[in-house]
Amino acid sequence: MEHGAEYAEAKRLVEASRHITIVGHLNPDADALGTALGLWWVFRELSKRADVVFVSRPLPQNLSFLPGFGKVRHSINPKCDLIVSVDCGSFDRLGIERPEGAKLINIDHHRSNTAYGDVNIIEPAFASASEAAFRLVTEAGWDIPKNCAVNFYAALLSDTGFFGYEGVGVRVFDFAKALLRLGADPEWTARMLRENEPLSKLRLLPRVLQTLRLYLQGRAAGLDVTMRMLKESGATVNETDDMVNYARSLATVEVGFLIREEADGGLKVSLRSKSRVDVCKIALSFGGGGHIRAAGFTIYDMERNMLKEKLLKMIEEELE
Ligand code: 5GP
Ligand code: MN
Repeated sequence: MEHGAEYAEAKRLVEASRHITIVGHLNPDADALGTALGLWWVFRELSKRADVVFVSRPLPQNLSFLPGFGKVRHSINPKCDLIVSVDCGSFDRLGIERPEGAKLINIDHHRSNTAYGDVNIIEPAFASASEAAFRLVTEAGWDIPKNCAVNFYAALLSDTGFFGYEGVGVRVFDFAKALLRLGADPEWTARMLRENEPLSKLRLLPRVLQTLRLYLQGRAAGLDVTMRMLKESGATVNETDDMVNYARSLATVEVGFLIREEADGGLKVSLRSKSRVDVCKIALSFGGGGHIRAAGFTIYDMERNMLKEKLLKMIEEELE
């Protein structure tokens, strides 16, 4: 389908539906939650029955400031006739079963998106999934309530690294400006995203930083998180989410990674690069995905040191 046609078809499906379920990826971040909740407020204005479903528990409580957060459900109502997925590159990362007969609109900005929807709005150049959702809402001509703008602004601020990552330019600031006009508050949102942390997260941080190691003449840096470290600090898995940025923050480092032990025995790897290495390519080769400068995967049946060895080999190849 030609790109503009995807937006028109999504509008048609939404307007024809009776009961919409909005879903996003497992272990949701501010982009997934903010984009989903933003659309929820729009669909409510359209007088649609709509649910937001994230199967992960617990949800990141530091994001409970997002309007509508308390309405998030953890399981899908099989009677819904339309699913709208946001910020999720592959169907398995939604963690849901698709109800029979339900159509699926896939709204995303991951370059690795597998186009698993009946309609696929995939915008790899967009800095946040909320940009694609906003384009749909705008092109459809639907009303945009303030609570939608508040959610979309938080999604945008978070996924652009507070307007600092690649891909931030005039288009992103035009979007931000539109959201401010609709009622988003930049000071409050930044404060909620940065200064609303649980104590357990700061207790966890020194433990994680203690594991920092440099590789490849200082061009790569890695961090480790174990279940034991989470337990000792009382932290949930969500609280490690941005710690990989410390590995990348070092002056000499191009690629930072963090390897987190999961409750089910898997190892969850987060990869970040500054300006040269395509970490999405690396994540894809391990069965994951993501963006060019931020990607991830989960691996089973591989021991941590072996995983590190394989990962570093791939990073070294990409650095050349
Ligand atoms: P994070 O390291 O913060 O979990 O993820 C970084 C980026 O990679 C995010 O955009 C996230 O959606 C994506 N990502 C992380 N893990 C996976 C995975 O296992 N599969 C896919 N397809 N994408 C992932
Ligand atoms: Mn995103």
